[in-house]
Amino acid sequence: MKKFAVFGNPIAQSLSPVIHQMFAKSCHLDIDYQKILVPMDSFNATVQTFFKEGVGCNVTVPFKEQAYNLVDKADPAATLAKAVNTIKITSDGELHGFNTDGIGLVTDLVSCYGTLKDKSVLLIGAGGAARGCVHPLLESGIKDLLIMNRTLEKAQKISDEMQDSRISVCATAALPDKWLPDVIVNSTSASLQNKLPGADGKWFANCGVAYDMVYGKQPTTFMEFAQEHGARLRCDGLGMLVEQAAAAFTIWTASVPSTTDVKMALRNR
Ligand code: NDP
Repeated sequence: MKKFAVFGNPIAQSLSPVIHQMFAKSCHLDIDYQKILVPMDSFNATVQTFFKEGVGCNVTVPFKEQAYNLVDKADPAATLAKAVNTIKITSDGELHGFNTDGIGLVTDLVSCYGTLKDKSVLLIGAGGAARGCVHPLLESGIKDLLIMNRTLEKAQKISDEMQDSRISVCATAALPDKWLPDVIVNSTSASLQNKLPGADGKWFANCGVAYDMVYGKQPTTFMEFAQEHGARLRCDGLGMLVEQAAAAFTIWTASVPSTTDVKMALRNR
């Protein structure tokens, strides 16, 4: 049976084994997928031992940057993010790294909102998750992308690295006059503390979808605020979690799993 795993610390909370077993079932595959708690100082050794038999793995907090440094080759999203969440071993023994978070976001956004082509996007936050999303968002054909972050330098750094004329940056709450986004993505961790990332109700006047990467049983603080101020749709990051996993599953197995049932099953857990 082909072996897969997710590496992290902590790892008990990870839904990845459940998600990947559901994918495998829908694709009529038998897989072994384990959660592996990695000691803080032995990520590289643990992964290298795993790949003596394993086919692919996911990497989660706090090892995504170490995974980027470990792999022999990284895809464009991982290169910009300097973070890898998916690794596969090639037939000649090379480790290839991918960052599927952005594909996960874009796929879920498109499935709940529709095409992103020619849309104006406000991305709040410039941490690892935001970095992973910039390349796939640009690839989806958006019109422009404003990256807003509490620490402006981090947003500026992403823009400098990307060199794409559609990107601009601003500090928290400094949205340019008369620029109203169609899509607002909260990639900050503020919702984990039930805080807003410095959002202003006026930004939602033209907003077709307000997306929070954080997910939970209840709508997040950001989603509630977006609803109050007129955002037509509000989504949390559960769909992104499932879609980033689906992209990893396809990288490893070349099979495209159905995600709708998996999202529903997780929602009802
Ligand atoms: P990082 O720690 O790399 O970045 C955190 C970001 O949040 C930074 O931009 C930081 O700003 C900002 N921030 C934190 N607190 C506040 C606040 N109170 N007000 C304003 N900004 C704030 O984390 P990640 O980018 O890796 O992850 C961000 C979130 O996305 C996490 O909550 C994570 O759970 C979620 N996530 C969800 C995924 C999914 O599949 N649904 C996938 C990946 C991540 P500053 O730079 O100024 O510190």
